[in-house]
Amino acid sequence: MELTNNALTVLERRYLAKDENGNVIEKPSEMFERVANYVAQADKIYDEKADINKTSKIFYDVMTNLEFIPNSPTLMNAGRELGQLSACFVLPVEDSMEGIFDAIKNSALIHKSGGGTGFSFSRLRPKGSTVKSTGGVASGPVSFMKVFNSATEAVKQGGTRRGANMGILRIDHPDIMEFISCKEDTNEITNFNISVGITEDFMEAVEKGKNYDLIDPHTNKVTGSLNAKKVFKHIVEKAWSTGEPGIVFLDRINKTSTIRKIGEIESTNPCGEQPLLPFESCNLGSINLAKMIKKGPKGYEVDYNRLQEVVYTSVHFLDNVIDMNKYPLKEIDEMTKKTRKIGLGVMGFADLLFYLEIPYNSQEAVDLAEEIMGFIDKKSKEKSIELAEKRGVFPAYEFSSFKESGTEIRNSTTTTIAPTGTISIIAGASSGIEPLFAISFMRNVMDNDRLVEVHPYFEKLAKERGFYSEELMEKIAEEGSISNIEEIPEDIKKIFVTAHDISPFWHIKMQAAFQKHVDNAVSKTVNFSNDATKEEVEEVYMLAYKLGCKGVTIYRDGSRENQVLSTAKKE
Ligand code: UDP
Repeated sequence: MELTNNALTVLERRYLAKDENGNVIEKPSEMFERVANYVAQADKIYDEKADINKTSKIFYDVMTNLEFIPNSPTLMNAGRELGQLSACFVLPVEDSMEGIFDAIKNSALIHKSGGGTGFSFSRLRPKGSTVKSTGGVASGPVSFMKVFNSATEAVKQGGTRRGANMGILRIDHPDIMEFISCKEDTNEITNFNISVGITEDFMEAVEKGKNYDLIDPHTNKVTGSLNAKKVFKHIVEKAWSTGEPGIVFLDRINKTSTIRKIGEIESTNPCGEQPLLPFESCNLGSINLAKMIKKGPKGYEVDYNRLQEVVYTSVHFLDNVIDMNKYPLKEIDEMTKKTRKIGLGVMGFADLLFYLEIPYNSQEAVDLAEEIMGFIDKKSKEKSIELAEKRGVFPAYEFSSFKESGTEIRNSTTTTIAPTGTISIIAGASSGIEPLFAISFMRNVMDNDRLVEVHPYFEKLAKERGFYSEELMEKIAEEGSISNIEEIPEDIKKIFVTAHDISPFWHIKMQAAFQKHVDNAVSKTVNFSNDATKEEVEEVYMLAYKLGCKGVTIYRDGSRENQVLSTAKKE
């Protein structure tokens, strides 16, 4: 297996089994064997004579080839005592003390096992409303978020990884203005990403410059109205200054939900890529596109035959995970098995573009994104249909949009683009569909030495084309971008673009291209340079809406010191 030093470090720290003294007692290959053997066992549920060893070997091969990697909890916990395999959960928050503290307790159990939790606080009565049983005054969603935040902080130490939360409040909640600025102080509510839940009515009011109603969820009464444009500007301003809140288009998410009749989606998981019903969980896995290439007559090309095989294997694997998972709560067990959502996505997209010599910020790259994701989505459905023939359709099928079209399928969703923050390090790939942050950077190593680390394909090309030197690589690490470095040939500069060379317009175009062929949502951060204006941020938010994205997250360089989950540095 070709694991990088970074991959080994990450694996040793959190993933490989340890004895009671903290010594690592598992090799990376043994970890993949443990995962493959455990997940393959689900085949027996449906076919007593299933050849588990054969399936296990196929699973083992795609993982050790670094072609497909499941989300972190599966790697950490499969075949071990905890046995919790999913990254994403959404829990309901009911408007009662019991409901609120149940959610806190349940999220602690989930964080302990490496999962992230999303909540909508929209059902909580607004600040200042009366509490019947005590005659007191309700403190409102934002004050309760702080309690959730402290609980997460406390659990952090003992868990497999730091707990992460998503907090969502609907745009028509009376406390929305307080919510929008609740992370103004970047040291507050640090274990949450926050997003405003946007409705179609609101967007219409923004476009027409009209007011929209605020509704108390407890009484269902209109409590006032706000100017939509002003609220939108307020969101943009806060996002510009701290990167938060993001926005999620809730009505759009529900409109495209395949299981609308089962319930209403109010929230997503922490990084926004997985909208879920209350008590639903989802396990993710990503195909490393950098491995899905072959040499053709004109250089590298996408190996669609291998990609098809890997998609089939991945869907089989992820469907098995649903059955082998040990769920932290009975309600989650039931809900997850009713809808059987899985989220297959990709990583190494930026690497792939390098191999194919296509700049990320080009129509050609956007077209390729649509072609590849369209293919993966189609093949994932084919496999899910095949699984349904043997294993049956997902139990909520009768109430789904698939029933209407007569598509007998095993999983109510099959595709999601995850951030792949850690598994991309394990695979040695660029994360998710993001462009690279830097072509080379300086890494501090032991004895205070600093080593320059270069993207391997760039290094290879630089040597082949004769412009490699250590000094040059150090210079690139200092400058960040290669666009102003004279020694580098123009054609190379065009292809090896990094996040800051790419305008927000292309970031959103790329997100929208993937979203077209993804059931769930797309994890993507739109990067702005420090000198970007609020108007530019507003434009991108509007563009995301117009292009059919399910949400937007932006980050303006230097606007925030610590992010809850930045894709570049995590854990
Ligand atoms: N997640 C989490 N804590 C973390 C990282 C991730 O709870 O420290 C959850 C969260 O729901 C996120 C999802 O895992 O949206 C997927 O994140 P990512 O793809 O980065 O995880 P990986 O599998 O690479 O560790």
